[in-house]
Amino acid sequence: SSTQTTVQLGHRFADALPELSVPWQADEAPDPRLLALDEGVAAGLGLDPAWLRSPSGLAFLTGTQVPDGARPVAQGYAGHQFGNYSPRLGDGRALLLGDLAGLDLHLKGSGRTPWSRGGDGLAVVGPMLREFVVSTAMHALGIPTTRSLAVVATGRTVQRETPQPGAVLARTASSHLRVGSFQLVRATEDVDLLRRLADHAIAAHVPAAADADNPALALYEHVVAVQADLLARWMLVGFVHGVMNTDNMTISGETIDYGPCAFLDAHDADTVFSSIDSGGRYRYGNQPLAAQWNLARLAEALLPLIHEDPEQAIPTAVAVLETFLPRYEVAWAAGMRAKLGLGPDVDTDADPALVTDLQALLDANHPDHTGFFRALGAAARGDAEPARRLVLDLAGFDAWAARWLAAGPDADAMDRVNPVYVPRNHLVEEALDAATAGDLGPVERLVEVLRRPFDERPDLARYAEPGPAGGFVTYCGT
Ligand code: AMP
Ligand code: MG
Ligand code: MG
Repeated sequence: SSTQTTVQLGHRFADALPELSVPWQADEAPDPRLLALDEGVAAGLGLDPAWLRSPSGLAFLTGTQVPDGARPVAQGYAGHQFGNYSPRLGDGRALLLGDLAGLDLHLKGSGRTPWSRGGDGLAVVGPMLREFVVSTAMHALGIPTTRSLAVVATGRTVQRETPQPGAVLARTASSHLRVGSFQLVRATEDVDLLRRLADHAIAAHVPAAADADNPALALYEHVVAVQADLLARWMLVGFVHGVMNTDNMTISGETIDYGPCAFLDAHDADTVFSSIDSGGRYRYGNQPLAAQWNLARLAEALLPLIHEDPEQAIPTAVAVLETFLPRYEVAWAAGMRAKLGLGPDVDTDADPALVTDLQALLDANHPDHTGFFRALGAAARGDAEPARRLVLDLAGFDAWAARWLAAGPDADAMDRVNPVYVPRNHLVEEALDAATAGDLGPVERLVEVLRRPFDERPDLARYAEPGPAGGFVTYCGT
């Protein structure tokens, strides 16, 4: 097989904003072993999978051998964690290796940095494979996300509640700029640096904003728009991020940082998966408001660029912030119509409450979220029983379904947007436990299923079923 020997990593972030990072290097990985590789992501980067599997490829994927000319850095950022401001977060266990094919290539679990605080700078196999599995599923579902290139076990033992095998995740993103990146710079009161950061974000994510009358405001409008779209997609598919801190919200609109994230089984607005989210701040149903709160923090950070006079900057920014929830509602309603097989050409003006009445039915009946929408496809084909089995209020469902069927849903279109397979928590946990114990088979099979989420395969029925009731809790920062 062909062997790649040179990789040209750029260093656009380190060059443009040297104040926001420090040159850094990864810890040694004494016995690197490849646990997962996404060949599609590799191809997008122009990396040869055969080389990535070789010893020099594994050294590249763990950051222990960097290509000539590369300038890996640990990035700084600040952020609000569960509402409390932390002035000094940053890549406490991560490294930006550089950029390749227009994407940031980033490592997680690569050792301590100046931002490690009390942490060990390390990551372990289970959580890194969770990010690999869930980000792969999100991409297959058409949801903007960072991508996972590979997970490599380092051969180190890492102390958690119990000793765990260490691992490094390599991932890509269109950038790693976060709301917290802007908060960090705003706190320095260096407006020139803030402008350079905004210009860098504009060049990366919304080049047209460079020519706007007010580029910073145009950047802000863009972030509000992409986050409204992202939140609608999360809600439609039943995704709970779990740690929507401002340092975990991107400027690009990509989902980032898969910690205690999970997909709903039963539809319930109050669902929380994270053990540290005791107040339910980031519960499923609160995610749009949590995003709006984060976007208010971004507005505060951008104010000096929006107008030099705060009296003018604030109302200007607030007017844009106030477009977030309406934009979200429009994106969500369009997505719901698609899930119900009611394309843009179907006239639902005669029954404008169809979508909101279904939402009320979901909130009252708590059916399995993924299973219910998929079962509606069968209902559109004349068999309502699979959907009826999932609700208690049969009269309410039948009355709603009669109205919906009268609008003429397109069952084939529904099957293209309502997944059969999502990374249900019990499947993910089962696969990660096996991987931690040395058996990669369940993770490999799960990833294969999740790469084709809309393509129902009768032999894979167990992957479509909800987990045991009662829910699961996953943990942050491991
Ligand atoms: P997160 O909740 O994953 O977004 O992480 C919040 C902050 O904690 C970030 O600055 C991380 O880099 C840092 N962090 C998380 N885990 C560790 C660790 N094991 N060692 C050092 N820093 C960490
Ligand atoms: Mg984070
Ligand atoms: Mg994390």
